[in-house]
Amino acid sequence: MLIQPVCWHCQTPNPFTTEQEGLCQTCWQSLGLKASGLKGLEPLSWHAAGWYEGALRRMVLRLRITPDSTVLHILCRELRSALSQHALLIPIPSWKAKSRANHLPQLLCRSLQKPCVPVLERSRPTVGQHHLNRRQRLLNQQGSFQVVRERLSSTGLLETLSSNAAQVWLVDDIVTSGATVMAARDALQTAGIVTQGVICLARTRLSVTP
Ligand SMILES: [Zn+2]
Repeated sequence: MLIQPVCWHCQTPNPFTTEQEGLCQTCWQSLGLKASGLKGLEPLSWHAAGWYEGALRRMVLRLRITPDSTVLHILCRELRSALSQHALLIPIPSWKAKSRANHLPQLLCRSLQKPCVPVLERSRPTVGQHHLNRRQRLLNQQGSFQVVRERLSSTGLLETLSSNAAQVWLVDDIVTSGATVMAARDALQTAGIVTQGVICLARTRLSVTP
């Protein structure tokens, strides 16, 4: 039996090229995926598969509800190549209760194929941020993370994470103002862990955020 490969997004038969890895040209473009990914330095160093808008935005929101490791693997291709050999990943934990938690950051770590060290937890609940401006978001997130010492002490992980050779990256699915990742970075810094920045699936254009 001959199995005709299809684009996983639009189901068009046999559209593959090696560069696009499972996505037809039309879908690749409609998702706004960049050949070398997106990166920037504000408010900290970040890498994203694409902008948080249009088809990619809809896809990431859908993945939050229905995670799909195949889709994640394809979306993460450029992000994987952006990571060094010594990269270590720290996923941003969800602030929602376990039953409603967003597991996408952890799944993203798996797709990035680097060691994942979940040493962060939320130290207090934060309010939803949709209606907040950038300054309010920073205040909302300030001190909202803590490093779980027990997860560090038993394995010599702190030495590894604090060593100069380690390239520690935060991982989140969506980065908007960056307030959440900044708070996570501060908590890690207090514990002696320096992070390179954040890896995310989608990033809001900076002009959108006040
Ligand atoms: Zn397609």
